[in-house]
Amino acid sequence: MAFVADRLSAVKPSATIAVTQKARDLTAAGRDVISLGAGEPDFNTPDHIIEAAKKALDDGFTRYTATNGIPELLDAISAKFKRDNELDYSASQIHVSCGGKPVIFNAFMATVNPGDEVIIPSPYWVSYPDIAAMFGGVPVFVNCPSSTGFKMTPEQLDDAISPKTKWLMLNSPSNPTGAAYTEDDLKGLAEVLLRHPHVWVLTDDIYEHIVYDDFAFKTLAQVEPALWERTLTMNGMSKAYCMTGWRVGFAGGPDELIKAMTKVQSQSISHTAAVSQVASVAALNGPHDFVAEHNKVFKERRDLVVSMLNQAQGIDCPTPEGAFYVYPSCQGLLGKTTETGQLINTDEDFVTALIEAEGVAAVHGEAFGLSPHFRISYATATDVLEDACQRVQRFCASLR
Ligand code: GLU
Repeated sequence: MAFVADRLSAVKPSATIAVTQKARDLTAAGRDVISLGAGEPDFNTPDHIIEAAKKALDDGFTRYTATNGIPELLDAISAKFKRDNELDYSASQIHVSCGGKPVIFNAFMATVNPGDEVIIPSPYWVSYPDIAAMFGGVPVFVNCPSSTGFKMTPEQLDDAISPKTKWLMLNSPSNPTGAAYTEDDLKGLAEVLLRHPHVWVLTDDIYEHIVYDDFAFKTLAQVEPALWERTLTMNGMSKAYCMTGWRVGFAGGPDELIKAMTKVQSQSISHTAAVSQVASVAALNGPHDFVAEHNKVFKERRDLVVSMLNQAQGIDCPTPEGAFYVYPSCQGLLGKTTETGQLINTDEDFVTALIEAEGVAAVHGEAFGLSPHFRISYATATDVLEDACQRVQRFCASLR
């Protein structure tokens, strides 16, 4: 009898985490590696957030908190939803956990029965299908290639919905493509959803604040208030507030769902770290000017990376509307051979050969469900990015 539970047979380790770890290991072994694997801002957590955390620790705020988060944090999140998204969520309609992943985990554990379908537009963030699969959920992928801006059309959504559909995962701006749904795009999807009242929607809005060229971010329940009662609006502190390691994600949803998620959390992690909660209050209620400053830098980097990758032979790199990823195609390189004789047949072959030859770590598109592509995170110092793109150019030019 196998020791590992059957439910893990449908689950792979996270590819984004694996690539990041590989880059760390190679660096520790003395290799010159540029890690463009993990989606993690290179900026430090702003000082006022750190000061609030230090003060909390000095004041002895080091004990257990309520499962769902301290009242001050629930109030701050409620105010955030009102301020940024015109959404009303009271304290009992808010869930706080250790990042976006555990919020999704808690939601799916609380609601997904074996055989329930979860619609996931591809490419998708690597963890969605595997978290669904952990609970016997069946991912239903909707192919969204670059020709449609990596976005799902209302017709595609309609075709994907079945009587077994439990959830739709909607992520905008998207990880891994940076594609973002406009208000009109969301209205089109909402029309379909209104015709299928059994379908719930989990919107992953974690890149909400990282948008370019005056893109106006909207979230689904804001665009179609009738969907509020079956939407879990998820967000978190990691990306815009540069707080990846603090581990704070949150979501707003109807009472019944939040109650079920809280039950799950009360029997697992209890709550995220007390000090991280205080830091998040300071972040949400404090000044936000650093967000625009960071976006200015991210935009310069986006433009640099898109331009340099499009100059690399065989690479085609679309310009994303948000987040800090590009998702270029490496179609033009398939069938070629490296200087050491390795054949590049897939995007995984490409990223493997790239890290070996030039020490640039990227994540292969197959992990995100759309090949042949690869993801580069440009949340890295501009001069390092420039060096990395030169290496990619050199590598592509060396293929025969
Ligand atoms: N969300 C980030 C990424 O896609 C962090 C790593 C992870 O949790 O997947 O790189």
